[in-house]
Amino acid sequence: MKRIKWENRPFLLAVFLFFIILCTSGYGASTSSPLIRVKILQDKSRVQVRATGSYRIRALDLARERSFPSSHSILTIEASQQGIRASGEMWGGEVLIKPEGADSLIRVNSRRYRGQIIVQQKNSSLELINELPLEKYLWGVIKAEISPDWPRACVLAFTIAARTYAFKKLQDPSSRTTGYHVSSEQDDQVYRGVEGEDPLSRELVNETRGKILTYLGEIIEASYHACCGGYTASLSDVWGGKGYPYLVAKPDNFCKKSPYFSWEFKIKVEKLREILREKGPILGRLYRIKLLEFDQGRRVKRLEIEHQGGKRELTGKEFREAVGGGDLRSTLFTVKRWGPYFVFKGKGWGHGVGLCQEGAKVMGEQSYTYKEILEFYYPGTLVETVY
Ligand SMILES: [Zn+2]
Repeated sequence: MKRIKWENRPFLLAVFLFFIILCTSGYGASTSSPLIRVKILQDKSRVQVRATGSYRIRALDLARERSFPSSHSILTIEASQQGIRASGEMWGGEVLIKPEGADSLIRVNSRRYRGQIIVQQKNSSLELINELPLEKYLWGVIKAEISPDWPRACVLAFTIAARTYAFKKLQDPSSRTTGYHVSSEQDDQVYRGVEGEDPLSRELVNETRGKILTYLGEIIEASYHACCGGYTASLSDVWGGKGYPYLVAKPDNFCKKSPYFSWEFKIKVEKLREILREKGPILGRLYRIKLLEFDQGRRVKRLEIEHQGGKRELTGKEFREAVGGGDLRSTLFTVKRWGPYFVFKGKGWGHGVGLCQEGAKVMGEQSYTYKEILEFYYPGTLVETVY
């Protein structure tokens, strides 16, 4: 073995320090996938937990731990006035449920999850959080959000957008109070645990491992939606604020043949009045809806509802949320009173900001690469590998 000469040691130390600094600077800190906490259940007073192998439960604020050696051991966890009750004992306000084998999965009610489960009691109900490596979380997102059978470039582009979205959430300080980074529902990204995975989703996530989108060195807000209806929306028009140069309104001709491109929604005037009354002070009979202001892509920014008691102004976003995003699929609509009905004719599905899934699908079919798809929907951004 060749001995290292003393005079070379400062040089070697400098190389070593440089390597350490490189590895610990910025978000390129680690070569392994970071952990993400996903809220998978809330407002439940009781859940049933088991695993595909042996598992362990540990109280996080008490010195108590117990092992369940068999996959047949079912643990019923309940919220009580004294805290979490499981297997007839009290476990305090927070417990950790961990599989013992590397490939073992925890089952919560009917769904299996990778990683571990944190159960917290919030007031009189339970909240369950799944903590797992971000890459494995994405395995359970892809199929729930788009089909892995769509063109490969489209799914790869989407995978990078979904990873960027989640990675950005890891830096969000609000997780220190909530205890989780994302929820498993549509307000973040739909996640169905192992039940949401398939071999192709896993393969495509693995192919883009660690790749995220940045703009001038910052992780981007990787918003996406089902279909923009021919014109994407700017972030500032939808959510206010200054916005970003990579989330601007622009024409999109790729999604024009999508089944979600056009829609119509007809609702009885009286029914709409009831829905709006639940959300605000409109009490009188409804007469008409006047569209007051549009954004560049003709999305409704402000509208006025004329009713027996006067006039009420809402933003397009508020109105859509009140009516329901499944019926009023976007704010890109026109409206007419038709006898006892209001008839809404609109385009697209979703808020319209960022990547249009239906447009990305057609770009994939037309042989665009995943980088070209991302450049089209998030112009000026870079794909970077962070681990
Ligand atoms: Zn589109």
